[in-house]
Parts: sequence; structure tokens; C-alpha cells
Amino acid sequence: MSDDTLFAKIVRKEIPSDMVYQDDLVTAFRDISPAAPTHILIVPNKIIPTVDDVEAEDELALGRMFTVAKKLARDEGIAADGYRLIVNCRDHGGQEVYHIHMHLVGGRPLGPMMRRG
Ligand code: 5GP
Repeated sequence: MSDDTLFAKIVRKEIPSDMVYQDDLVTAFRDISPAAPTHILIVPNKIIPTVDDVEAEDELALGRMFTVAKKLARDEGIAADGYRLIVNCRDHGGQEVYHIHMHLVGGRPLGPMMRRG
């Protein structure tokens, strides 16, 4: 498996980011082009390209992404009002970086999830 995704380089601190959390399984850093007052990306340290590549052995890291999302939402002061977690998969999902990531987005009303039709 490639060890050369943009987000893997951020995890390894080979390129700079505004990192807000890191442990043995996941890393979180602010999106370079935020869509809302809070826009944080939470990634597994291990490269998993897409949701379609997830294996049972990844369940611990993927679960950790949720507990870290909860913690960071509280840290950011957006937990009470609510927020959105987004994971895009491949082309139709709008995935740009092929290293699974959860977007934690909030800090303002986000409106409907997506346009219908
Ligand atoms: P996707 O569309 O793959 O779900 O989301 C990729 C996200 O990565 C986008 O929101 C984009 O702004 C963000 N991004 C792309 N390049 C960088 C970068 O170099 N640093 C950071 N912090 N975020 C990035």
C-alpha cells in the first residue's frame, strides 16, 4: 500500500498543518479551505484510500474517529448547537484526497444535507 498520500505526509508531520489532535490511531487537523467556522479533518494514521477499502481490522481506528470528533466538537464549543460529519467516497461522493477522512463541520447552521433531484 502506498505511504505517500497528502494526508499521510501531514500525519507524519512532513508537511505543515494546523494539527489539533493526534494519537496512535488517528490525526485531526484544520481543513486548508474551511467551509464553516469549524472545519476539521479526522484521518486514520494508516492509509485507507476509500470507504470501499475498509477492513474489519480497521474498526478500532474508524471508531476512534467518532470519539475524537465528539471531543473536538466539544473543544470547539459547537457540540450543543450541533454539527455535521461527512465522509466522501470516490468520484460521485466528491472525494478529492484518497486517504479516508471525516469532515467535522460546524459553527453555523449548515442547511439541508444536499440538494435533492
Ligand atoms: P474530500 O473532498 O476528499 O472529502 O476532502 C478533501 C479536503 O481536504 C478538502 O476539504 C480540502 O480543502 C482539504 N485539503 C486539501 N489539501 C489540503 C492540505 O494540504 N491541507 C489541509 N489541511 N487540507 C487540505
